[in-house]
Amino acid sequence: MKEVKSPKKPLLYYYGIVLLIILLFNVLITPMLSRAQVVEVDYGTFMDMIDEGDIGAVQVEDTQILFTDKEGTMVYKTGPMEDPTLTERLHDAGAEFARVIEEPISPIWSFLLTFVLPILIFVGLGQYMSKKLMEQAGGKNSLSFGMGKSNAKVYVQSTKGIRFSDVAGEDEAKESLQEIVDYLHNPQKYTEAGASMPKGILLVGPPGTGKTMLAKAVAGEADVPFFSISGSEFVEMFVGMGASKVRDLFKQAKEKAPCIVFIDEIDAIGQKRSSGSYGGGNDEREQTLNQLLTEMDGFEGNTGVMILAATNRPESLDPALTRPGRFDRRVPVELPDLQGREAILKVHAKKIKTAEDVDFHTIARMAAGASGAELANIINEAALRAVRSGRIIVNEADLEESIEVVIAGYQKKNAVLSDQEKKVVAYHEIGHALVAAMQSHSAPVQKITIIPRTSGALGYTMQVETGDKYLMTKEEIENKIATYTGGRAAEEVAFGQITTGASNDIEQATKLARAMISRYGMSDQFDMVAMETVNNQYLGGDTSLTCSPDTQKEIDRKVVELVKTQHEKARKILEDNREKLDELAKFLYEKETITGEEFMEILTKGEKQ
Ligand code: ADP
Ligand code: ZN
Repeated sequence: MKEVKSPKKPLLYYYGIVLLIILLFNVLITPMLSRAQVVEVDYGTFMDMIDEGDIGAVQVEDTQILFTDKEGTMVYKTGPMEDPTLTERLHDAGAEFARVIEEPISPIWSFLLTFVLPILIFVGLGQYMSKKLMEQAGGKNSLSFGMGKSNAKVYVQSTKGIRFSDVAGEDEAKESLQEIVDYLHNPQKYTEAGASMPKGILLVGPPGTGKTMLAKAVAGEADVPFFSISGSEFVEMFVGMGASKVRDLFKQAKEKAPCIVFIDEIDAIGQKRSSGSYGGGNDEREQTLNQLLTEMDGFEGNTGVMILAATNRPESLDPALTRPGRFDRRVPVELPDLQGREAILKVHAKKIKTAEDVDFHTIARMAAGASGAELANIINEAALRAVRSGRIIVNEADLEESIEVVIAGYQKKNAVLSDQEKKVVAYHEIGHALVAAMQSHSAPVQKITIIPRTSGALGYTMQVETGDKYLMTKEEIENKIATYTGGRAAEEVAFGQITTGASNDIEQATKLARAMISRYGMSDQFDMVAMETVNNQYLGGDTSLTCSPDTQKEIDRKVVELVKTQHEKARKILEDNREKLDELAKFLYEKETITGEEFMEILTKGEKQ
């Protein structure tokens, strides 16, 4: 629940306005109207008034003569006569020949002004007030009394502009979304093949990485309507409104299918239902979530309604949401790497005038850890800076300074790596990769990156097996443990000190080592005796010990010995290949993400000669 809005303007404010209007009528308009009343007199009276000098302004026309008395408080009217001396006599009487007398207002007009207009004003004001009151009571979206009407905005036209090419970087995300575009273009192809598309796709990534943009781009590429709503909008309404809003949204979407429905911040409604029930807001959220699940189950995969949802906390989502048939596909949208950052900067720089010598590569390097939205902000900030110093061309200094402004803002909240930390992470990751590569039977390295991940990891090394593997040899497991220790070993070799960055590695290595001894029967000492059983393979796989405390002690000792041996092996490998370690770490530090091929190229460079 968002905060309850306190009425910004008290009711008294509106009563004040009403009072003011009434006053205005009494003081200004009514006298004006009565003054504008024209009294018709005969020509004789006109003559008399001239003789008495009681004439203010006169307006002689072909069909009538309009005049006022000396004070100008009354307007008279009389018919014209054949009177050649009139002008002279009027002049002598001190009359003023001017169009001071405005055309008198007709009775119909005066009726409209005195009765109809005030009523209209009151009715209008009443409407405005009730709208305001509704807003204050029911959140900014209930614009009318039509409760439960969804306010999912339909952007049929506006997204036509956004294409995949507008989203810089994020190639992997774009690739996975391309299939959706293809499906929306050509659903029969999939129906004929009997394939059903996922109903929901979860875009997972930190804020400002372009998730909304990607969703819009899918709609733009497929040329279909785009409905968007934010999860938080569902829950800030009256009780029961969220669910009916979901119902309405899907009704609209089905009518407009094929189309894209985009739910931003889905964690606002999709949080785990068990996780801490705090007060009444929870109930409402649960109803909304249930309705969403019902709707998703209610339509077939091939109706052409594609639901995209964005979150930066996938782990907090209710498992019911991520079950097959719902949001069963996940597309990671990570922070951009160096190349991505450069591309994003260039995209946004097109909107401003930049000096020719601006080196976006350098700027991108300086803005390590920045998201797409922050990069867009950097460009804008630089343009503002240029304007402030009276230029229209943005130069490199503007950009550099605006990085500091923007980065200082987000460094606190995002914990961007410092330069030294980045170096350590680079060595750590290369440590894993190098140890893996130097041992036989290790899966080849696919990709290494030091871009912080959504999962909280500061970097990671991805290894992919060449084929499916069901059996692992003792040696392979040992090598794997060595690979896990490789990260820490690299820190030791390169810096002579260690960091907390290896905590996950330690956990994994320990798990493997323990399993080797207690479950896989891979130690001489215990042979094929099971010391541990797995309780449930699929639910976390927690284990329970089935041995005596003495044996446990022995197992613990063995595990330590095993990990220690592998750790030493890893350290030896890295020491023997110190030059490669340095070279690769430097390369990774500069590029932030390197592919397996690039890695192998550097590794085998010297050997070929
Ligand atoms: P999210 O939905 O992930 O929070 P948005 O899609 O709303 O992020 O992105 C916010 C803004 O940041 C966009 O309007 C765009 O200007 C900029 N932006 C983010 N990522 C990119 C990108 N990959 N390419 C170009 N601009 C981007
Ligand atoms: Zn590691």
